[in-house]
Amino acid sequence: MSKQKINKLLIGTNNKGKLREIRSLLPKSIKIHSTSEFNLKSPVENGNTFKENSLIKSKYFSKKTGLVCLADDSGLEIDFLDKKPGIYSARWGGRDLDFNKAIKRVYRELSKKDDGWKKKKIKARFICALSISHLDKTIACVIGKIEGYISIEPKGKNGFGYDPIFVPSNKTLTFGEMKPSQKYKMDHRYQAFKKIRKFL
Ligand code: IMP
Repeated sequence: MSKQKINKLLIGTNNKGKLREIRSLLPKSIKIHSTSEFNLKSPVENGNTFKENSLIKSKYFSKKTGLVCLADDSGLEIDFLDKKPGIYSARWGGRDLDFNKAIKRVYRELSKKDDGWKKKKIKARFICALSISHLDKTIACVIGKIEGYISIEPKGKNGFGYDPIFVPSNKTLTFGEMKPSQKYKMDHRYQAFKKIRKFL
């Protein structure tokens, strides 16, 4: 499929936070469809990497709708926890994807590893694999990252997921404290989007 032909695009996510952000990045000339219009559940993400899981989603949603699909798989890697939660970032929220639960687990695991972790700088990064597929064909698959560290307590009510505990390098506010427009101009999804936009 040549790039001129993508004039409508399905965003392959059931996460409203991601949908809002991806929508804000896409050119207005592309007609955007969401999974809720088709009442589609998410597929089982049984890949071993962010890229594999992103492709599982973009291919699954494309095959269900016949539309070209852009999907992301993303998560938080914490160096001190051997890069966990990584591809299990959503699953740390439990069956009901409760982000407070996921954040509590991060703090619990850090304390288990070292009671004095708050005195250290806990390096972390958000990773995003963005892919575009049409049916079973991969059009593009790229990775974007943002480096930072874990704040010693959750701060801010903006965003979703681990936003209240992630402070990007050279910043003092967590993603949860920043305005969405500020986060959207620097984060992992934006970095991945810069690489994939030439395929749109
Ligand atoms: P996925 O839907 O399997 O890709 O799940 C990704 C999970 O990683 C989300 O449920 C969040 O917990 C976390 N995550 C990914 N991107 C972000 C972000 O921009 N902010 C906060 N948490 C994020």
